[in-house]
Amino acid sequence: MTVRILQRGFNFSQDGPGNRLVYHLQGCTMRCPWCSNPESIAPKGCILALGEEADRLCPFGAVRGGMPDAERCAACEKPCLAAHSRSLRMSCTEEDTDDVLREIDRSKMLFFDGGGVTFTGGEATLQWDALETLLTALHEKGVHTALETNGSHPRLPELFDRIDWLILDCKHPDDETHRRVIGASNRQTLRNLRAAAEMRAQLLVRIPLVGGFNDSEQDAERFAEALSCLRDGHDVEVLRYHEYGRDKWKQCGMEYTVRDAFVSDETYRQFCSILQQSGLHLIHT
Ligand code: SF4
Ligand code: SF4
Repeated sequence: MTVRILQRGFNFSQDGPGNRLVYHLQGCTMRCPWCSNPESIAPKGCILALGEEADRLCPFGAVRGGMPDAERCAACEKPCLAAHSRSLRMSCTEEDTDDVLREIDRSKMLFFDGGGVTFTGGEATLQWDALETLLTALHEKGVHTALETNGSHPRLPELFDRIDWLILDCKHPDDETHRRVIGASNRQTLRNLRAAAEMRAQLLVRIPLVGGFNDSEQDAERFAEALSCLRDGHDVEVLRYHEYGRDKWKQCGMEYTVRDAFVSDETYRQFCSILQQSGLHLIHT
């Protein structure tokens, strides 16, 4: 079975316990304007141009000033002819899940500290069949598995028995705001959040705190209400807005539209304090 992989690499602590082999799968169901991996959003991948020398590499003249024309690239009949150059490349590679499992087998000795394999994205559940195949095989082999998800897949709870560590991102408790800014409803995410809170002993909910989007006192109170289903053993992590992905938006031919979204220390403390006062357990990974 084929799986589209955006990138892979080792990471310690942020994406589950111990030393982890992290696979970012291509494609996302949301479009967060601050996304630090915007090249992960298009389900079939996108072309990244790394510098203005990429202009001369497209035989159709679809790259100008180091910016690919995302629409023309998506409609391009041929795969990018120069996609393997250093200046112009496809965001993902298509691989066989058996090869991925063999790669994980070869890396197993690095999980000695309780680590394992993490799938993230993009939104890994978008490649449902491949993800299910990988999680099932790893679970049978006794490899510790983690999934970071935006919670948008309606069948997510079916995977809970094969996910040792679940990270569920929750961006805004209000559906209308979620739709307007992110382009997708939050309803399935909140349904999956409640299911995970009920069915799982372990759950980490991550909130990206973005100035002007979800950082007001009222937002914090609404998050506290939406997360009131969490129990002992469930944690919440609040991650402040950063701009790590800004340059990549241009490289993908897309405009970075977020302005003035950094969150002050005071706002961050106040937001966290409202969550803590509501009984939620906050952590920092
Ligand atoms: S996919 Fe590659 S070859 Fe096709 S238009 Fe885009 S940059 Fe040009
Ligand atoms: S859900 Fe995650 S991967 Fe998808 S657009 Fe938002 S930040 Fe990016």
